[in-house]
Amino acid sequence: MKILVPVKRVIDYNVKVRVKADQTGVELANVKMSMNPFDEISVEQAIRLKEAGICEEIIAVSVGVQQCQETIRTALAMGADRGIHVLHDGDIEPLAVAKILKELANKEGPTLIIVGKQAIDDDSNQTGQMLAALLGWGQATFVSDIQVEGEQVKATREVDGGLETISVKLPAVITTDLRLNEPRYASLPNIMKAKKKPIDQTSPADLGVDPSIRLEILKVAEPPQRESGVKVEDVADLVDKLRNTAKVI
Ligand code: AMP
Repeated sequence: MKILVPVKRVIDYNVKVRVKADQTGVELANVKMSMNPFDEISVEQAIRLKEAGICEEIIAVSVGVQQCQETIRTALAMGADRGIHVLHDGDIEPLAVAKILKELANKEGPTLIIVGKQAIDDDSNQTGQMLAALLGWGQATFVSDIQVEGEQVKATREVDGGLETISVKLPAVITTDLRLNEPRYASLPNIMKAKKKPIDQTSPADLGVDPSIRLEILKVAEPPQRESGVKVEDVADLVDKLRNTAKVI
């Protein structure tokens, strides 16, 4: 089977995100960008399926600015076989990304699309679900374990209060949760090899998708500062503070 893995270029998860002075968004200038962590988990899962002889080809796709090619190269260095870069300058919303991925799925014919459960920049958690709906495919979201069994995928999902195991008919869309696996680091030889792997470039227009923005961001603000804690003397003091200061009991 072929597996399509969307990989988004986002602010690195170690970076302290700063809101722009005019509150229209967050600072991106001179900020370290990396692959969305959930997408690293998707790439790792696709590689494990390839190593298990279940998958023949892994295609990494990124939608966005020219530098998204670096994100695709990272996926190629980890073990993906080739890349597709959908060049788009400026913001793009999950629905447009889902429409683009649908067109690519129709062209490439993957059996499985492994999407991150959410991108850590906008925290939308929408693309995988929208993609499955647009394709009319089954979906298993927030997956912490998958087993491919013939024409089905058995997926364990992290739901409120426990785990749910479902069976989904292929082709399907999977969205990855944190505990699915621990992504590998790319080795130096594989980083060198990745430079030779092909990346095709296309655009939303080539795919017949209108990427225009439908949502208006009214304001982006820093979360309120957390107040520092206090040390209590003893249990009586704790109860007193909970009752009279915090007023929670
Ligand atoms: P979101 O719905 O924005 O939280 O994103 C969920 C997942 O969709 C991400 O983890 C990626 O796998 C995929 N995705 C979203 N935006 C893009 C993009 N611009 N390029 C490639 N993949 C994307």
